[in-house]
Amino acid sequence: MKQEDFREKSYWLTTRDYRPGKPLEADLDVDVAIVGGGFTGLSAAYHLKKAEPGLRVAIMESQVVGFGASGRNGGFNMTLFGLTLGVTAIRFGKAKTRASHHYMEKAVDLLRDLVAELNLDCDYEHPGFLRVATTRTYRRRILEEIELAHRLGLEGIHWLEKDQLDRQVKSDMYLGAWWEPRCGILNPAKLAWSWRDVLEPMGVQIYENTPVTEIGQGGGKVILHTPAGRVRAEKAVLATNAWSHFFPRLRRKQIPVWTHIVLTEPLSETHFKKIGWRNRQGIEDARNLVHYYRLTADNRLLMGGRDVSLTRGFDMDKDRNEATFEGLRKDLRELFPALKDIRFTHQWGGPVSVPLDMAPALGYAGDRNIVYSLGCVGHGVSLTHLNGKTISHLVLEKQSDLTDVFFVNRRTIPWPQGLLQDAAIKAILGAMHWDDRRAEGTKP
Ligand SMILES: Cc1cc2nc3c(=O)[nH]c(=O)nc-3n(C[C@H](O)[C@H](O)[C@H](O)COP(=O)(O)OP(=O)(O)OC[C@H]3O[C@@H](n4cnc5c(N)ncnc54)[C@H](O)[C@@H]3O)c2cc1C
Repeated sequence: MKQEDFREKSYWLTTRDYRPGKPLEADLDVDVAIVGGGFTGLSAAYHLKKAEPGLRVAIMESQVVGFGASGRNGGFNMTLFGLTLGVTAIRFGKAKTRASHHYMEKAVDLLRDLVAELNLDCDYEHPGFLRVATTRTYRRRILEEIELAHRLGLEGIHWLEKDQLDRQVKSDMYLGAWWEPRCGILNPAKLAWSWRDVLEPMGVQIYENTPVTEIGQGGGKVILHTPAGRVRAEKAVLATNAWSHFFPRLRRKQIPVWTHIVLTEPLSETHFKKIGWRNRQGIEDARNLVHYYRLTADNRLLMGGRDVSLTRGFDMDKDRNEATFEGLRKDLRELFPALKDIRFTHQWGGPVSVPLDMAPALGYAGDRNIVYSLGCVGHGVSLTHLNGKTISHLVLEKQSDLTDVFFVNRRTIPWPQGLLQDAAIKAILGAMHWDDRRAEGTKP
């Protein structure tokens, strides 16, 4: 990859000057080697150094910090764990669903507090989150989710009727919304790069353009191979998210799935007069294949979701999907006809990590000296930051309320391989599409 090519991966990656650091050029001995310079790896490095400032910690990133999902996402700091509360309850039961939501609340608060404490320059705003109902079926679905949340004793989630929602954001398609003031929005690439600004003075070594090609063991250490040197470490952290299947021990724990985004030019005052949205909440709808949308610091409208792209084998170059980009532009104009003439300036995509049961997983990768984390299923901005802290406890072998949570060291359901994997994906996606079409057939 040429020096500045990473900037083509998202609009966010063009919003700040960034000079990538040096690659690893010789053998290296450290206490903890972290593979992957996304939020998971960055947060793990921070929490390790905070707990034990003397630790020698190095991050190896195959491209640049923030190259993966962390530099390309919607920037929602939100509480959703996995797909929905309902899906989590079916898979894990009510007590674990409650525990997962409490973990996510902690994650959202941690990220907000870290941004404030460490002065992470990422255009952070705290306007809350709306999950809007755009058909009667989605209205019923959201009301059922809120009822489940309340039965589980979860607080801070409310229903807004259409007229209350209209006073916030106006679309003829809206029939009400889930309202959750706890959540925020941010610029994710700026966040990732601000992490580098914080970590290097703490003594974390960050090597960019340094892919880890193989991991082995030798002399009681973990050995990480890179093109120009070997890293010998007491412990390693695999913070490789949607790329995790490249490592044999994680191969069947997740698959990469791409979600796509379009971005408009800045909205004008006339646009805001028509659609409201002065309070700038992050918004999702209730589809299985959600739309997510928000305003940027300079008032562009970002909309992502609608459909996903898949890969075969190890091809990770699925960022662009013209049909989905076109569909998103159409959906946005349908939702807000006042924006029918708006110009679209950017489009991009990025991979999320999807376990077969759509829930995150982290823990020891067989041996206690290798820790992994993956499976945020498109909702990992907050989660990865708290997971970084949890990972630091796993690395330091310190039991805590974080390491005791049920999805740490859980058994994951292995993805089938080859044609069986294709069939499983086709069945799952087919059911999601079918259900969305059914729900949209009831449009008022
Ligand atoms: C388009 C999009 C929109 C999203 N929107 C939201 C949202 O609004 N809110 C939300 O909560 N979540 C969202 N997500 C999910 C969220 O971005 C991710 O869950 C989160 O960023 C994952 O962080 P990570 O550090 O685990 O992984 P990543 O950021 O993907 O980092 C993994 C890193 O590992 C590196 N790597 C891989 N293999 C190797 C190797 N062998 N050697 C060295 N380095 C390697 C990669 O280059 C990459 O930089 C979205 C994701 C996408 C793609």
